[in-house]
Amino acid sequence: MVNAEVWQSLTEELTAKGVTLVAVSKTKPASDIQDLYNLGQRDFGENYVQELVEKQPVLPADIRWHYIGHLQSNKVKYIAPYVYLIHAVDSFKLLEEINKQAAKHNRTIKVLLQMHIANEVTKHGLDANGLTELMEYYEAQKDSLKNVEVCGLMGMATFTDDEEQVRSEFARLHNMYKHIKASYFIAKPYFNTCSMGMSGDYHAAIEEGSTMVRIGSMLFGARNYPA
Ligand SMILES: *Cc1c(COP(=O)(O)O)cnc(C)c1O
Repeated sequence: MVNAEVWQSLTEELTAKGVTLVAVSKTKPASDIQDLYNLGQRDFGENYVQELVEKQPVLPADIRWHYIGHLQSNKVKYIAPYVYLIHAVDSFKLLEEINKQAAKHNRTIKVLLQMHIANEVTKHGLDANGLTELMEYYEAQKDSLKNVEVCGLMGMATFTDDEEQVRSEFARLHNMYKHIKASYFIAKPYFNTCSMGMSGDYHAAIEEGSTMVRIGSMLFGARNYPA
């Protein structure tokens, strides 16, 4: 079940702030996605390749599919024909594979680099050194990486009630985003995305500079299984 009123007011709030809403539809049926689409939503986020592969063909072709979960290199090929933005790139190997698969389909895939900002060991992502290293590889080889467009950074804050901690993690991510833009993408308007904020913490994320929020349970209701 989709909450149309919540979608409406959230969309108004985010539009006024210039923030893009990605509706996170993982574990939810295609009919829920169609309902939000009918209201006007076009950006949807999924976490599992298998789920996306099942939903994409039965839904409108102009949906912008965001892949927000951890992506294994050997599965890129399944989503490469249509995926719009891959949020969770955390290795150079994965970036190369996305480029290779995008080239096969004669298209460009947008990506974000996922940063580990949370104070939790389980979450994926790069640390500051990993980011620097990846960017050095990228700089050295970008002429052969013409089918990927690095558009920004993504991160998830610690799951905690401590709002100060959440804020400081978002602030750190936004600083890294500004630093990477200034260092490598200063004349590249497509580098414009700082993806941070979910149902529970998107207000703090926007105040700390988010340009794209990923919101699931607030729009679609609680998920039946954790994801
Ligand atoms: C599930 C998920 C979300 C959405 O979480 P909600 O709390 O349901 O809004 C956002 N980002 C990522 C990476 C997720 O896996």
